[in-house]
Amino acid sequence: MKPPVFEYHAPESLAEALDLLSEHGDEAKILAGGQSLVPAMNFRLAQPAVLIDLNRATRHETGLRAIRPTADGGLRIGAMTRQRAVERSAEVARCHPLVAEAMPQIAHPQIRNRGTFGGSIAHADPAAELPALALALGAELVIRGPRGERTVPAERFFTGLFETALEPDEILTEVVLPPLPPRTGTAFLEVSRRHGDYALVGAAAVVTLDAEGRCLRPRLSYLSVGEGPVLARHAIDRLSNETFSEPLAREAADVASRDDMDPPGDLHATATFRRHLARVLGRRVLETAWKRALQSHEE
Ligand code: FAD
Repeated sequence: MKPPVFEYHAPESLAEALDLLSEHGDEAKILAGGQSLVPAMNFRLAQPAVLIDLNRATRHETGLRAIRPTADGGLRIGAMTRQRAVERSAEVARCHPLVAEAMPQIAHPQIRNRGTFGGSIAHADPAAELPALALALGAELVIRGPRGERTVPAERFFTGLFETALEPDEILTEVVLPPLPPRTGTAFLEVSRRHGDYALVGAAAVVTLDAEGRCLRPRLSYLSVGEGPVLARHAIDRLSNETFSEPLAREAADVASRDDMDPPGDLHATATFRRHLARVLGRRVLETAWKRALQSHEE
């Protein structure tokens, strides 16, 4: 199918894009990589009257497509940075191996060549990898609008099915990933029917250990088990300040799959199967992250 008629703008700057968004309000949509929006328009699931293409603005606003270190050792990733650039970045692999591990599992290289880091987060597909990673890593989302700039923690950014804290006149400009503390290990796993398909379930874990092997500030998040990315809060409570062990990882994953999610059932997998996958993947990512945290300490 073809999309309905729309007006197309390619502003030269972020300020111009924001003016256009203010002018057209709910009628307008930002075009980033177009890998979700254009198919949705072709199927007429989305029918914006106005498209505001951000790609030209990145020529001058280079921060929109840059990966830069922060003073405290974290990373700022411009919203328009291609997913492929993030996948290939040595800086990302060094500072945030969880992101480097998950990137190749997003769709196919051709889609990652166009799809943007921020576009995936703004789109908030419950089956997407990056929103779940944003929760696991405690990302902060930098948003610009007519009222200025604001920063929203990932935990408050994702508000429902394809819904976020972004107002219709706002643009996501950067994703800030805080540094990982010493003695931290991370892991990501997903199950999909074919490589490149959206995952039936995916899980991400971040484990930081103290000198006695206790689990400080653990994080466990999931994709494809609810209306948005899911932070497994009950499981995190079970792990916090406990001495890490395989039985503890198993128990936390049991808690997550029972108390932290309401997985959908559909053509691809029943809710029961998704819960089972969440239990298995949760245990595996926690154990792997724990082992990597121990190794990082030995190095
Ligand atoms: P667009 O499609 O341009 O925009 C998506 C939405 O976000 C639109 O509503 C747009 O207005 C809004 N938006 C985009 N950028 C901004 C911004 N900076 N500020 C405010 N709003 C913004 N994704 C996965 O995560 N995992 C997969 O396995 C996967 N498989 C795929 C398979 C296929 C065949 C295809 C076509 C896509 C797949 N995708 C998958 C989606 C892909 O990763 C998209 O690139 C991504 O979801 C959206 O990024 P985009 O830059 O293309 O955004």
